Amino acid sequence: MESTNKNKIFLSIAVVVTFTFFIIAVVSIFFTQKTDKIQKEKIALIKDNLTLKRSIEKKEVDYALLREKIGDIEEIVNEKSIDNKNIEKLLQTLSTKSKKLIVDSIPSGYPLNSKRVTSEFGYRIHPVYGKKRFHHGLDFGGKLGTPIISTADGIVEFSGFDKGYGNLVMIHHNFGFKTAYGHMLKNLEVKKGDFVKKGTVIGYLGNTGISTGPHLHYEIKYIKNVINPKNFLSLNIENFDKTIKRENSILWKGLIGAVMNQYGRIGLARLL
Ligand SMILES: [Zn+2]
Repeated sequence: MESTNKNKIFLSIAVVVTFTFFIIAVVSIFFTQKTDKIQKEKIALIKDNLTLKRSIEKKEVDYALLREKIGDIEEIVNEKSIDNKNIEKLLQTLSTKSKKLIVDSIPSGYPLNSKRVTSEFGYRIHPVYGKKRFHHGLDFGGKLGTPIISTADGIVEFSGFDKGYGNLVMIHHNFGFKTAYGHMLKNLEVKKGDFVKKGTVIGYLGNTGISTGPHLHYEIKYIKNVINPKNFLSLNIENFDKTIKRENSILWKGLIGAVMNQYGRIGLARLL
Protein backbone atom coordinates (compact mmCIF):
# COMPACT_ATOMS: atom_id res chain seq x y z
CA MET A 1 0.00 0.00 0.00
CA GLU A 2 2.77 2.35 1.02
CA SER A 3 4.71 1.48 -2.12
CA THR A 4 1.70 2.33 -4.34
CA ASN A 5 1.45 5.74 -2.65
CA LYS A 6 5.14 6.29 -3.19
CA ASN A 7 4.74 5.41 -6.83
CA LYS A 8 1.84 7.86 -7.14
CA ILE A 9 3.88 10.64 -5.53
CA PHE A 10 6.81 9.79 -7.75
CA LEU A 11 4.58 9.78 -10.80
CA SER A 12 3.02 13.11 -9.79
CA ILE A 13 6.46 14.68 -9.34
CA ALA A 14 7.52 13.27 -12.72
CA VAL A 15 4.42 14.73 -14.37
CA VAL A 16 4.94 18.14 -12.70
CA VAL A 17 8.65 18.18 -13.66
CA THR A 18 7.91 17.14 -17.26
CA PHE A 19 5.14 19.75 -17.50
CA THR A 20 7.44 22.42 -16.06
CA PHE A 21 10.15 21.52 -18.58
CA PHE A 22 7.56 21.60 -21.33
CA ILE A 23 6.38 25.07 -20.26
CA ILE A 24 10.01 26.27 -20.01
CA ALA A 25 10.72 24.87 -23.50
CA VAL A 26 7.63 26.52 -25.00
CA VAL A 27 8.35 29.82 -23.26
CA SER A 28 12.01 29.79 -24.30
CA ILE A 29 11.11 28.97 -27.93
CA PHE A 30 8.62 31.84 -27.85
CA PHE A 31 11.17 34.28 -26.45
CA THR A 32 13.93 33.11 -28.82
CA GLN A 33 11.61 33.81 -31.74
CA LYS A 34 10.65 37.14 -30.24
CA THR A 35 14.34 38.05 -29.74
CA ASP A 36 15.12 37.01 -33.32
CA LYS A 37 12.31 39.22 -34.57
CA ILE A 38 13.53 42.15 -32.47
CA GLN A 39 17.09 41.54 -33.70
CA LYS A 40 15.91 41.56 -37.32
CA GLU A 41 13.91 44.73 -36.73
CA LYS A 42 16.96 46.29 -35.11
CA ILE A 43 19.14 45.45 -38.16
CA ALA A 44 16.47 46.83 -40.49
CA LEU A 45 16.31 50.01 -38.40
CA ILE A 46 20.11 50.39 -38.51
CA LYS A 47 20.00 49.96 -42.30
CA ASP A 48 17.19 52.51 -42.59
CA ASN A 49 19.10 54.89 -40.40
CA LEU A 50 22.20 54.49 -42.56
CA THR A 51 20.22 55.12 -45.75
CA LEU A 52 18.63 58.16 -44.15
CA LYS A 53 22.03 59.41 -43.00
CA ARG A 54 23.43 58.99 -46.51
CA SER A 55 20.45 60.74 -48.06
CA ILE A 56 20.84 63.62 -45.54
CA GLU A 57 24.55 63.83 -46.41
CA LYS A 58 23.67 63.91 -50.13
CA LYS A 59 21.03 66.59 -49.51
CA GLU A 60 23.61 68.64 -47.57
CA VAL A 61 26.03 68.39 -50.53
CA ASP A 62 23.23 69.38 -52.95
CA TYR A 63 22.34 72.29 -50.67
CA ALA A 64 25.98 73.44 -50.53
CA LEU A 65 26.19 73.28 -54.35
CA LEU A 66 22.96 75.22 -54.64
CA ARG A 67 24.28 77.89 -52.22
CA GLU A 68 27.40 78.12 -54.34
CA LYS A 69 25.33 78.56 -57.51
CA ILE A 70 23.18 81.24 -55.85
CA GLY A 71 26.43 82.93 -54.79
CA ASP A 72 27.68 82.84 -58.39
CA ILE A 73 24.41 84.29 -59.68
CA GLU A 74 24.49 87.04 -57.04
CA GLU A 75 28.05 87.82 -58.05
CA ILE A 76 27.11 87.98 -61.75
CA VAL A 77 24.09 90.19 -61.01
CA ASN A 78 26.26 92.55 -58.92
CA GLU A 79 29.00 92.59 -61.55
CA LYS A 80 26.46 93.38 -64.24
CA SER A 81 24.77 96.18 -62.35
CA ILE A 82 28.16 97.76 -61.64
CA ASP A 83 29.42 97.11 -65.16
CA ASN A 84 26.32 98.39 -66.94
CA LYS A 85 25.74 101.42 -64.68
CA ASN A 86 27.92 103.80 -66.63
CA ILE A 87 27.01 102.36 -70.03
CA GLU A 88 25.39 105.63 -71.10
CA LYS A 89 28.72 107.50 -70.86
CA LEU A 90 30.55 104.71 -72.66
CA LEU A 91 28.03 104.71 -75.53
CA GLN A 92 28.47 108.44 -76.03
CA THR A 93 32.20 107.94 -76.66
CA LEU A 94 31.60 105.37 -79.44
CA SER A 95 31.65 106.45 -83.09
CA THR A 96 29.34 104.89 -85.70
CA LYS A 97 32.32 103.02 -87.10
CA SER A 98 33.10 101.54 -83.67
CA LYS A 99 29.48 100.50 -83.25
CA LYS A 100 29.61 98.76 -86.62
CA LEU A 101 32.74 96.88 -85.52
CA ILE A 102 30.93 95.69 -82.40
CA VAL A 103 27.76 94.68 -84.28
CA ASP A 104 29.90 92.70 -86.74
CA SER A 105 31.88 91.00 -83.97
CA ILE A 106 29.02 89.56 -81.92
CA PRO A 107 26.03 87.41 -82.98
CA SER A 108 23.50 89.76 -84.55
CA GLY A 109 20.72 89.51 -87.09
CA TYR A 110 18.58 86.52 -88.09
CA PRO A 111 20.13 83.10 -88.73
CA LEU A 112 17.75 82.52 -91.66
CA ASN A 113 15.47 84.33 -94.03
CA SER A 114 12.37 83.88 -91.86
CA LYS A 115 11.27 85.96 -88.91
CA ARG A 116 8.54 83.55 -87.82
CA VAL A 117 9.36 82.63 -84.20
CA THR A 118 7.39 79.50 -83.32
CA SER A 119 8.73 79.04 -79.77
CA GLU A 120 10.18 81.66 -77.45
CA PHE A 121 13.15 81.44 -75.08
CA GLY A 122 12.29 80.45 -71.49
CA TYR A 123 9.96 78.04 -69.70
CA ARG A 124 7.36 76.33 -71.85
CA ILE A 125 5.47 73.07 -72.04
CA HIS A 126 7.75 70.83 -74.13
CA PRO A 127 5.98 69.78 -77.36
CA VAL A 128 7.32 66.18 -77.15
CA TYR A 129 7.66 65.50 -73.37
CA GLY A 130 4.50 67.45 -72.42
CA LYS A 131 6.27 68.75 -69.29
CA LYS A 132 7.46 72.20 -68.22
CA ARG A 133 11.02 72.59 -69.51
CA PHE A 134 13.39 75.49 -70.08
CA HIS A 135 13.74 76.27 -73.79
CA HIS A 136 17.34 77.38 -74.31
CA GLY A 137 16.82 79.12 -77.63
CA LEU A 138 14.39 80.48 -80.17
CA ASP A 139 12.61 78.31 -82.73
CA PHE A 140 12.01 79.61 -86.24
CA GLY A 141 9.47 78.06 -88.56
CA GLY A 142 10.34 77.82 -92.25
CA LYS A 143 10.44 75.65 -95.34
CA LEU A 144 12.64 72.54 -95.38
CA GLY A 145 15.93 73.39 -97.04
CA THR A 146 15.94 77.13 -96.14
CA PRO A 147 19.64 78.13 -95.88
CA ILE A 148 20.90 78.74 -92.31
CA ILE A 149 23.66 81.29 -91.81
CA SER A 150 26.18 82.02 -89.07
CA THR A 151 25.24 85.22 -87.20
CA ALA A 152 28.89 86.23 -86.55
CA ASP A 153 32.44 85.35 -87.58
CA GLY A 154 33.81 82.33 -85.75
CA ILE A 155 35.30 78.85 -85.67
CA VAL A 156 33.08 75.77 -85.95
CA GLU A 157 33.28 73.93 -82.63
CA PHE A 158 30.88 71.09 -83.50
CA SER A 159 29.27 69.86 -86.69
CA GLY A 160 27.40 66.57 -86.58
CA PHE A 161 24.46 64.66 -85.17
CA ASP A 162 23.09 64.98 -81.66
CA LYS A 163 20.17 62.86 -80.40
CA GLY A 164 18.19 65.89 -79.18
CA TYR A 165 19.40 68.68 -81.44
CA GLY A 166 19.52 66.55 -84.59
CA ASN A 167 22.07 67.81 -87.13
CA LEU A 168 23.77 70.54 -85.18
CA VAL A 169 26.42 73.21 -85.77
CA MET A 170 28.01 75.05 -82.85
CA ILE A 171 30.18 78.09 -83.54
CA HIS A 172 32.70 79.70 -81.21
CA HIS A 173 32.85 83.49 -81.67
CA ASN A 174 34.98 86.23 -80.16
CA PHE A 175 34.43 87.90 -76.78
CA GLY A 176 32.75 84.98 -74.98
CA PHE A 177 29.96 84.18 -77.48
CA LYS A 178 28.85 80.88 -78.95
CA THR A 179 25.89 80.09 -81.18
CA ALA A 180 24.14 76.79 -81.92
CA TYR A 181 21.86 75.83 -84.82
CA GLY A 182 19.81 72.65 -84.42
CA HIS A 183 17.47 70.23 -86.27
CA MET A 184 19.10 70.94 -89.66
CA LEU A 185 19.18 68.64 -92.71
CA LYS A 186 22.01 66.10 -92.95
CA ASN A 187 24.04 67.98 -95.58
CA LEU A 188 25.83 70.42 -93.24
CA GLU A 189 28.05 72.86 -95.12
CA VAL A 190 30.79 73.23 -92.48
CA LYS A 191 32.95 70.93 -90.38
CA LYS A 192 34.71 71.22 -87.02
CA GLY A 193 37.59 73.71 -87.16
CA ASP A 194 36.29 75.65 -90.19
CA PHE A 195 36.38 79.46 -90.07
CA VAL A 196 33.03 81.01 -90.94
CA LYS A 197 32.10 84.60 -91.73
CA LYS A 198 28.90 86.30 -90.60
CA GLY A 199 26.41 85.24 -93.26
CA THR A 200 28.17 82.00 -94.31
CA VAL A 201 25.67 79.22 -95.07
CA ILE A 202 26.32 76.44 -92.54
CA GLY A 203 23.38 74.12 -93.30
CA TYR A 204 19.70 73.92 -94.19
CA LEU A 205 16.48 74.00 -92.17
CA GLY A 206 15.37 70.47 -91.29
CA ASN A 207 13.34 68.36 -88.91
CA THR A 208 15.99 66.12 -87.30
CA GLY A 209 16.48 65.12 -83.64
CA ILE A 210 13.65 65.66 -81.16
CA SER A 211 11.47 67.87 -83.32
CA THR A 212 7.76 68.02 -84.15
CA GLY A 213 8.07 69.81 -87.48
CA PRO A 214 10.52 71.65 -89.78
CA HIS A 215 12.18 74.42 -87.76
CA LEU A 216 15.50 75.91 -86.71
CA HIS A 217 16.51 75.94 -83.05
CA TYR A 218 18.85 78.90 -82.53
CA GLU A 219 20.86 79.44 -79.34
CA ILE A 220 23.28 82.12 -78.11
CA LYS A 221 25.63 81.45 -75.21
CA TYR A 222 27.58 84.18 -73.44
CA ILE A 223 30.41 82.97 -71.21
CA LYS A 224 28.71 79.98 -69.57
CA ASN A 225 25.05 80.94 -69.87
CA VAL A 226 22.44 80.63 -72.56
CA ILE A 227 20.83 84.01 -73.20
CA ASN A 228 17.68 85.14 -74.96
CA PRO A 229 18.67 85.81 -78.62
CA LYS A 230 15.70 88.17 -79.16
CA ASN A 231 17.53 91.52 -78.72
CA PHE A 232 20.43 90.31 -80.89
CA LEU A 233 18.18 89.53 -83.85
CA SER A 234 17.36 93.19 -84.36
CA LEU A 235 20.70 94.64 -83.22
CA ASN A 236 22.06 97.12 -85.76
CA ILE A 237 23.86 100.46 -85.83
CA GLU A 238 20.60 102.45 -85.81
CA ASN A 239 19.20 100.88 -82.63
CA PHE A 240 22.61 100.13 -81.08
CA ASP A 241 22.36 102.33 -77.94
CA LYS A 242 18.75 101.36 -77.19
CA THR A 243 19.39 97.62 -77.63
CA ILE A 244 22.57 97.60 -75.58
CA LYS A 245 20.89 99.42 -72.68
CA ARG A 246 18.00 96.96 -72.78
CA GLU A 247 20.17 93.83 -72.91
CA ASN A 248 21.29 93.10 -69.38
CA SER A 249 22.76 89.62 -69.84
CA ILE A 250 26.06 90.96 -71.21
CA LEU A 251 28.91 92.69 -69.38
CA TRP A 252 29.06 95.43 -72.03
CA LYS A 253 31.85 97.55 -70.57
CA GLY A 254 34.41 94.75 -70.79
CA LEU A 255 33.14 93.56 -74.15
CA ILE A 256 33.19 97.00 -75.80
CA GLY A 257 36.67 97.56 -74.34
CA ALA A 258 37.91 94.24 -75.71
CA VAL A 259 36.44 94.82 -79.21
CA MET A 260 37.89 98.34 -79.42
CA ASN A 261 41.27 97.20 -78.15
CA GLN A 262 41.47 94.38 -80.71
CA TYR A 263 40.45 96.55 -83.66
CA GLY A 264 42.59 99.41 -82.40
CA ARG A 265 45.60 97.12 -82.60
CA ILE A 266 44.71 95.99 -86.10
CA GLY A 267 44.24 99.62 -87.16
CA LEU A 268 47.60 100.48 -85.71
CA ALA A 269 49.23 97.52 -87.45
CA ARG A 270 47.80 98.73 -90.78
CA LEU A 271 49.25 102.18 -90.21
CA LEU A 272 52.68 100.72 -89.50
ZN1 LIG B 1 14.10 74.92 -79.82
